[in-house]
Amino acid sequence: MQKDQFFTRRRMLLAGAAAVGAAGTAGVVLAGGTEETARIPAAPAPGPQARQALKPSAFRLQPLTGYGPPRPAPRKLKVRTEPILKISGRGRHMMLTFDDGPNPEYTPHILDTLARYDVRAMFFLCGECVVDNRELVARMADEGHVVGNHTWTHPLLTTLNRRQIRDEMERTSDAIEDSYGERPQWFRAPYGAWNRAAFQLGAEMGMEPMAWTVDTTDWMTPGTSTIIDRVESGAAPGVVVLSHDAGGDRSQTVHAIREWLPHLLDSGYHMTVPRRRT
Ligand SMILES: [Zn+2]
Repeated sequence: MQKDQFFTRRRMLLAGAAAVGAAGTAGVVLAGGTEETARIPAAPAPGPQARQALKPSAFRLQPLTGYGPPRPAPRKLKVRTEPILKISGRGRHMMLTFDDGPNPEYTPHILDTLARYDVRAMFFLCGECVVDNRELVARMADEGHVVGNHTWTHPLLTTLNRRQIRDEMERTSDAIEDSYGERPQWFRAPYGAWNRAAFQLGAEMGMEPMAWTVDTTDWMTPGTSTIIDRVESGAAPGVVVLSHDAGGDRSQTVHAIREWLPHLLDSGYHMTVPRRRT
């Protein structure tokens, strides 16, 4: 399975790059982020105030349909032609992202480690995992993490038509809203394979496209020490780190973050998530 996954991922990365040209590789290189990142202020990781602002419990008290206020239309965003690769801000800020979950076996350990060090992260969730693990999404809300949309079934978007892509994205935002308390403001294309429809639909739904700067390559299960090396050697101001809390055996990811997170914090890095728009 791991082998299959490796070849599938590799093939899809190549397919994505071919489909969108230079933008398809943008997610795996550190380049061209100045104009893009200027729009993403790095805020201090939200503390108790942000948790209060989320009010997940209050949300759950509202009727699901019919009686509540109409859902506000998402704020339409400028359509980008390549995803955001870095965050901006003064000082040694980095952002941690975890894809493909939530997963009942691995996500709780990662949340425990983040809580231990009082760090907030961004989780790119797949809708089909959200509906099976709603309590983990609620925990992310309670603990101040930001969640993003990573489609329902994790398909290669460049093989789907526009209606299929919209369906993948909309259903996932609906499921996230039900469990997290608000719709996601961030989208990440599976395999980093972006296309024009993904950028257009994301902007229409009020979601910015977020890629990454440093891939831990944990999806290849290269060994815990290799993952630690990747993160620590890639650490720099503005870096967005890609890890996975689902999609395979993620015990290496779970063990690695227990090592590299305290190391980076000791080195003076601050782990941040984007400031909320509302
Ligand atoms: Zn993914």
